[in-house]
Amino acid sequence: MAAAPEHLAAINLESQCAHYEVNVRGVVQGVGFRPFVYRLAAENCLNGEVWNHSCGVTVHVQGALKDLNIFVRRLKQDLPAPARIDELLVTEHAPREYSSFTIRKSEKTGSSFAHIPPDLALCNDCRREFESHNDRRHAYPFINCTQCGPRFTIIKSVPYDRPATTMASFPLCEQCSEEYHTPTDRRFHAQPVACPECGPQLSFLRRKNGKWQAESQAADPVHDAAQILRNGGLLLVKGLGGYHLSCDACNEAAVRTLRLRKRRNDKPFAVLLSDMQLVERWCEVSPNESKSLRSPQAPIVLLQRRPECPVAPSVAPDTRMLGVMLPYSPLHLALMNSVQRPLVMTSANVSDDPIEYRDSLESTRLSTIADGVLMHNREIQIFADDSVVRVVKNRARVWRRSRGYVPRRVHVQPPFQVPVLGFGADLKNAFAIGKDDSAILSQYLGNLESDSCNDAARTALDHMLTLFDVHVEQTVCDLHPEYISTRLAEKWSRTHNIPLCRVQHHHAHLAACLAEHNEVEPALGIILDGTGYGTDGTIWGGELLYGNNSFFNRMGRLALVPMLGGDLAAREPWRMALAWLNAAFGADVYELDAVIIKDIKNKYGDHSLQLLLDHALINKCAETSSMGRLFDATAALIGFGVRHQYEGQAAMWLEGIMHREFQGLYSIGIEINNGMIEMNPRQMFRELLRDLRQGVSPQTMSRRFHDSIVEAWSEMTIQGVDLLKIDTVALTGGCFQNAFLLDELSTKLEHKGLRVLLPESVPCNDGAIALGQICIANAQE
Ligand code: ZN
Ligand code: ZN
Ligand code: FE
Repeated sequence: MAAAPEHLAAINLESQCAHYEVNVRGVVQGVGFRPFVYRLAAENCLNGEVWNHSCGVTVHVQGALKDLNIFVRRLKQDLPAPARIDELLVTEHAPREYSSFTIRKSEKTGSSFAHIPPDLALCNDCRREFESHNDRRHAYPFINCTQCGPRFTIIKSVPYDRPATTMASFPLCEQCSEEYHTPTDRRFHAQPVACPECGPQLSFLRRKNGKWQAESQAADPVHDAAQILRNGGLLLVKGLGGYHLSCDACNEAAVRTLRLRKRRNDKPFAVLLSDMQLVERWCEVSPNESKSLRSPQAPIVLLQRRPECPVAPSVAPDTRMLGVMLPYSPLHLALMNSVQRPLVMTSANVSDDPIEYRDSLESTRLSTIADGVLMHNREIQIFADDSVVRVVKNRARVWRRSRGYVPRRVHVQPPFQVPVLGFGADLKNAFAIGKDDSAILSQYLGNLESDSCNDAARTALDHMLTLFDVHVEQTVCDLHPEYISTRLAEKWSRTHNIPLCRVQHHHAHLAACLAEHNEVEPALGIILDGTGYGTDGTIWGGELLYGNNSFFNRMGRLALVPMLGGDLAAREPWRMALAWLNAAFGADVYELDAVIIKDIKNKYGDHSLQLLLDHALINKCAETSSMGRLFDATAALIGFGVRHQYEGQAAMWLEGIMHREFQGLYSIGIEINNGMIEMNPRQMFRELLRDLRQGVSPQTMSRRFHDSIVEAWSEMTIQGVDLLKIDTVALTGGCFQNAFLLDELSTKLEHKGLRVLLPESVPCNDGAIALGQICIANAQE
């Protein structure tokens, strides 16, 4: 028989029956992935099966080769928004017996690690139903589906099934049950599925004569809550991961009252805006910022506000940035629809306590703060604050990693030899668990300063260890002997009889950044940070560290100055200004004609300067190479002045006032000292003082400072990589929350041909320390 023409052969091949096994890893569980696969198979006339297991999802599909290829392509292309594919492996097998496509029961093989999805923002389909008057879930504040709704914050134990969540107390009605059990339904196996018939309900309490009182049954809770807000009152709102404190964001008196009662001075509040149109009217929004706001994680996105933005001045003093989020839960949407005002939404707590998430408000400090509370009867199992991101260099960079991101895993190389627990640092604390090839960072736990924060950290730790069923065999903490996290770790490892190792703070910063990029080779880290305990007993924070998980060498640093007043120097920037002026002018500092010197004398007495400097000399107060403190010093000198701050405030002010155009450079010395490349800004302080005397604007000085810092670190980095003959550098540390610094320095280094790694899904600040710790511990013998 003659051979078939070529085009016919091709058609035959295309229509031949074939069998693919597709293994998918990534965010593929609890996000509607299996129903999506089911629909895709049905649309392409394929048979086979799909199931979940501890490593991801496996699909077997069988049918015409061309349909199989379409299936695989669409699997990647049409992926549901909250899902993410990290790895997709297709293997071909001989065809088997399949007469239909089925969703098989989940396999509970091996460990349950990394099985728990994060909370997801309201999806577009649910939003449409919420807004449709004919839908049975119209305006229902707990509407959700496989692609949206609460997850992490309602799960009590694994496997992730409804009985193991706080939804267990709501038996499904007939209709919901039908949806839950139908593979083609978009609520198939949506564990928190609910409707007005069978699901959670809202209630509203008003504070009258110091007591919480429920409104009559007939009242509409959302309407009553909105009334409070419109009248300038303060409202507690029970959200996904905890309670928010809320007020009208355009009502200055209300915002001031909120600050007063919450006992919070200047730290910016986030605002909830109704929709993208409003966000665009009030803030400058790039396409990537818009994408972040509308993402399933729905974080607070830091935006540049426009001059016409009418948000009350007290919402975010000292900065042009505004933290904005969109209504990410149907409850927030219901509230926004009713109140028709932009709202301040801040974690419900007093000063720096952890976010409140339990319903026993009477017993907390919050009981006297608000005028009303909008709550519901779906219990929050564990808290999670709102996450915060800032878009720099076209990527959303996570500053605070919490709701929406936790407990997403970070794939780590090489795999963990034994399960490891890292305790992190004291500021912006998060702990991390490492097992197999995954690391899981906990939610944001705040600053470990108060007892209540420490309690919250312990609660979160117990919850996570139970949830993931991890039996820790190695613990790790910071080198700082006086960190609260260090003491927690010491106690924990003693109680459980598990070895503890200690890791230098900035080595951990470097390791975390490398881990995120799956980089195992040594790189040069440019770690510009607040403070961290060094191996030589000084306080580090402006470092060139060469290393990876196994080792590090300190190649360079910022020159040392004393931290006048010790820990107080971190809260009172003028102390660092004085330290640097003293370094620049020596004894002449007492008579300097500078506003800051006069202000210090006015506030603390004529002899305060001498006392402080003598004290530093006699008592050998700790010296520091901290870049964060250098930013503080410069800010205090050029206009931030003599006042208290929250961490990072002075630096944020300095970034905020910066002139938009290049204004020239200050002189910064780069010398070799103690075998290290050392940056010395003494001369810069002389020039800053000259500028001050000549009446140069703070805007110009800030710009010169920023450009000079970028120039100096760029130069030092080049010297470092030339010496090492490498081309990979990692930029991290809390100072890189400064978008200008991150953008300019990384771009400059890229132009010099370097491969630059930047933090993205893991914060550049101390929220990343625990991840670095566990990776380093894993590399120790
Ligand atoms: Zn949905
Ligand atoms: Zn129902
Ligand atoms: Fe740090």
